Amino acid sequence: MSRYLVTAALPYANGPVHIGHLAGCYIPADIYVRYLRLKGEDVKFICGSDEHGVPITIKAKNEGITPQQVVDKYHKMMGDAFKEFGISFDIYSRTSNKIHHQTAQDFFKTLYDKGVFEEIVSEQFYDEEAKQFLADRYIVGTCPKCGNENAYGDQCENCGSSLQPTDLINPKSKLSGAKPVMRKTKNWYLPMGKIQQSEEFQEYIKRFENWKSNIKGQCDSWLKEGLQPRAMTRDLDWGVPVPIKGAEGKVLYVWFDAPIGYISATKELLNESWKNYWCNKDSKLIHFIGKDNIVFHAIIFPMMLQQHGEFILPTNVPANEFLNLEGDKISTSRNWAVWLHEYLEEFKNKQDVLRYTLTSIAPETKDSDFSWKDFRGKITVS
Ligand SMILES: [Zn+2]
Repeated sequence: MSRYLVTAALPYANGPVHIGHLAGCYIPADIYVRYLRLKGEDVKFICGSDEHGVPITIKAKNEGITPQQVVDKYHKMMGDAFKEFGISFDIYSRTSNKIHHQTAQDFFKTLYDKGVFEEIVSEQFYDEEAKQFLADRYIVGTCPKCGNENAYGDQCENCGSSLQPTDLINPKSKLSGAKPVMRKTKNWYLPMGKIQQSEEFQEYIKRFENWKSNIKGQCDSWLKEGLQPRAMTRDLDWGVPVPIKGAEGKVLYVWFDAPIGYISATKELLNESWKNYWCNKDSKLIHFIGKDNIVFHAIIFPMMLQQHGEFILPTNVPANEFLNLEGDKISTSRNWAVWLHEYLEEFKNKQDVLRYTLTSIAPETKDSDFSWKDFRGKITVS
């Protein structure tokens, strides 16, 4: 008997679950876990809501509620949808839990004490009226490429250009409307380029040879380009507070704390014996994700685990491509999706019919497409 820890990507708690999530991550993970259980393997299946980060604070502000109210609403909705569709997690936890904050802070502190981080002072936009630093999404202005007056600090949604906040003409704060000023701030960076060169990381990436070609291809191209240091802390008031002196008003970068959510959820499920799964070389760690998460699961999180020193590294990261809807990319902001709770209103007790269809078109190696015509064809007995 082997021991497996299988994780499914923590869904982001700012909207409900749609068919693309199910087809690309949760159904494949669930099928794999059910197979392992049938074989009699020792397996734990871990998931939960990712509840930090800037988009949740923006949603809260737009709706006039607190970030906690936003995540409470979607955590429940997502958990209910997974249950309805038979995704057999051993635990569905959440990152606003106390045990997660503690685990993520301890993890950060360990890396900090080992001198892993680089402290870097940079200039960021600051809103003097709202008295806070502005995340890229909190800055709007005119796009230098197409003239759209409502471009964000990281991207223009009109022409699709990816931007730096300093590229914007006439930048304004979304919080107060004030013109932001540049102010210096210190953050803690993971020196990814340096870690990439280390012998132990070079040893780890040999595993990519046995992984799916879409993942290996993406990882190889990043590694070839060379990795840059990335800030693991942010000037923001929603998230896990950075547990060191001089970091007041800062939180952990959401992509630092979210994967640690797998560890905290395992602790919550198993108490003391969580280490059998995370810190024992005989265990296998498998992350099911969508293709937009590859860099975090195949490179950044393994670097964090390796630098920490107590943990095993992923045995495999099966990432899937995307499921489209009627030939078009699924989009939450354009409301182009089949939401699971709405599906159930139309098709009462027909969960397995959808599970079957999504399994048959799972986007394992390339993007696939869901259409209602195809759905009807697959489920009608003629
Ligand atoms: Zn533009």
